Amino acid sequence: MPLPEQLPPERTVRRRIIDLLADTRMSSYQLARRLGIPERQVEEHLPHIVKSLARDRMRRFVLEPATCFDCGFVFRERRKLTRPGRCPACRSEGISAPRYGIDSIKRRSERLDSQAASE
Ligand SMILES: [Zn+2]
Repeated sequence: MPLPEQLPPERTVRRRIIDLLADTRMSSYQLARRLGIPERQVEEHLPHIVKSLARDRMRRFVLEPATCFDCGFVFRERRKLTRPGRCPACRSEGISAPRYGIDSIKRRSERLDSQAASE
């Protein structure tokens, strides 16, 4: 006999992360505090969230890259979603945590091109 549909716990956490990130930016540490789970677990969920939002036409995952406090190096090319250990430019370990967010895409014509600004 079929059981009533129930979300497995990890799906529920992902939903809550998606809710928390809507139209804002948070680090995995902030998310962990809000959810009451270890930061490591947040970091494990994030790639799945990125993947599911890649198919979502209404929302998009935004990664604000980690930055070196000492020399200002920005970890733009970094694919991993965790905080880097050390700056490749100056070797400093004072690095800001990357922050995440989910923006809703209202209309295609309203999309801003934010990439040109800092180059
Ligand atoms: Zn640096």
